[in-house]
Amino acid sequence: MKAAVLRAYNEDLSIEEVGFPDCPEDGVILKVLACGVCRSDWHGWTGEHPRVKPGNIGGHEYCGEVVEAGPASNWKVGDVLVAPFILACGTCPQCQMGAQNTCLDQRLPGFLEPGAFAEYVAVPRDHNLARLPEGMSPTLAAGLGCRVTTSWHALTGRAALKGGEWLAVHGTGGIGLSAALLGRALGAHVVVVDVVQEKLDHAKGLGIDAAVNAKDGDVAAQIREITGGGADVSVEALGIEQTVNASLECLRPLGRHVQVGMPVGHTAQMNVNMSAVYQGNLALYGTRGMPAWRYPSLLGLITAGKVDMSPLIAREIPLSDTGKELAAFNGPTPPGVAVITDFTR
Ligand SMILES: [Zn+2]
Ligand SMILES: [Zn+2]
Repeated sequence: MKAAVLRAYNEDLSIEEVGFPDCPEDGVILKVLACGVCRSDWHGWTGEHPRVKPGNIGGHEYCGEVVEAGPASNWKVGDVLVAPFILACGTCPQCQMGAQNTCLDQRLPGFLEPGAFAEYVAVPRDHNLARLPEGMSPTLAAGLGCRVTTSWHALTGRAALKGGEWLAVHGTGGIGLSAALLGRALGAHVVVVDVVQEKLDHAKGLGIDAAVNAKDGDVAAQIREITGGGADVSVEALGIEQTVNASLECLRPLGRHVQVGMPVGHTAQMNVNMSAVYQGNLALYGTRGMPAWRYPSLLGLITAGKVDMSPLIAREIPLSDTGKELAAFNGPTPPGVAVITDFTR
């Protein structure tokens, strides 16, 4: 089968013929129908992700059709499924309490084992998977394993965003735009921040209430002005010092900061304005992924037409363009995300 293999950090992925994966006992082989290209893949590609090594096949935002099912699988050939990027064990104390995204024994296709930048992917522990809702395209569903689920859990599982509250979103890449759209669907007022005016215009065109260009100076002051005293909830969707501090400083007293962006490599340690946390009596939430049992709450919202996630998808690409998309994360990116839909070239 064809796969896009990481041979050297910061170089184009190598399109190669690789061996067909073995079907896991408790899992499936999926024919990949769509796979998103995510900033987390970029962290792996640059060598800053602590666990991604050369030889790996990336790709953790996939939707696929079952072509083979193991003896202990929950699915059958022909089922079309989405997978969260964290495959939880189901039995450790974290899983037992329903927090599968903090499982103590995680499997991570696309990071620690071959992912879905390939024609086929092996998925163990398929109790984590969910059926693609009828009428939803695999392309749209590709973000449902990572960006959309992570945003949903950040807003509803962690910060408990309520209708009528102000939500600030720092960074309007795939995950930030997801958070903004979902926040609006939850009835919050939303202000987005970016340095790319085109992305801010795109968000405004989708009904987002306000936009702040970080190039125009003090982001936190502008948000406090727009929101009449500060945001109730602020999502940091980039993982860098400047936006983390803008996020903390834009909150009103008792505000909730949610760390969605992944601080890795040279940004893993940063100077954080803890005085703002102290003075404002702020709450800080970390978040990563979503427990699989929460899929129905999100999929229900989308299939009922309460939120349209399609503006998230900017372009469909062939497998051979994946490396180019990763390189594009080196600089500011245009609105929307790329999804691989052609795995033959
Ligand atoms: Zn992702
Ligand atoms: Zn577990």
